[in-house]
Amino acid sequence: MRRARGRCPAPRLAALVGLALAPIGSLCAAKLFTLSLEDIAAGRAEVVDLTHDLQEGTPLFPGGVPFALEPLTRLADGYYMNTFSSGEHTGTHVDAPAHFGKGLPTVDEIPARRLISNGIMIDARAKAAANPNYALTVADLVEWEKANGKIPPQSLVVMNTGWHQRWESPDRYLNRDEAGAMHFPGFSVEALRVLLKERDVNGVGIDTASIDPGASITFEGHKVMLLGGRYQVENLDNLDLLPARGFTLIVAPMKISRGSGAPARVFAIVPR
Ligand SMILES: [Zn+2]
Repeated sequence: MRRARGRCPAPRLAALVGLALAPIGSLCAAKLFTLSLEDIAAGRAEVVDLTHDLQEGTPLFPGGVPFALEPLTRLADGYYMNTFSSGEHTGTHVDAPAHFGKGLPTVDEIPARRLISNGIMIDARAKAAANPNYALTVADLVEWEKANGKIPPQSLVVMNTGWHQRWESPDRYLNRDEAGAMHFPGFSVEALRVLLKERDVNGVGIDTASIDPGASITFEGHKVMLLGGRYQVENLDNLDLLPARGFTLIVAPMKISRGSGAPARVFAIVPR
């Protein structure tokens, strides 16, 4: 159901008029769109799948375990069925707090209410194209909020680096140099701290193999988010299809008991 549509300016209008209306935009945008099956059925909202196919040959973070599918039966046997094996951090997946923190929630323990979020998309494609080691800054967050309004609590902030376009080419996706170091963009530690402590986000997401820039070997961003009790989603797809805000994100990781993370299906419900 859409609420308060008559009283709030549309997000696009708020973005056009910029600064002056930004606080109104932020108040209204948070309420402007609420998931409705009727909206989806009537074509007023669409479901965008932000998930890569789980299959062999996809990019893997070093140490990761590839996905593999083995046939068990064919239709000729009566029904079609496979078995599969996979690392927890393979394909589009969630990192749970327990991935880095002792005694912190495992993937099955992430509260379900934290998995449905206000969608926030930060477009960092131009900066990432100019610098593959780009780390999203606090200044980028300030700039985004000037244009779009304050990031509301219970948001999942996804960074569109454009890297999801490289998924079909694992070499280009991980972008290793001759010494083996990876070069892809990510979040800065400072930006993650602001999102966690000052914006109370549910989590963050990115269309690369890690929320830390690829060259990181200390995973400081992971520590900020996961030790802060929140989660992250990595290897997202289709971020080009998202507006800056005003949509809903649904993250559904496999409920692996005591898992450090899990492959996830991720949907955005986007008003048309
Ligand atoms: Zn992971």
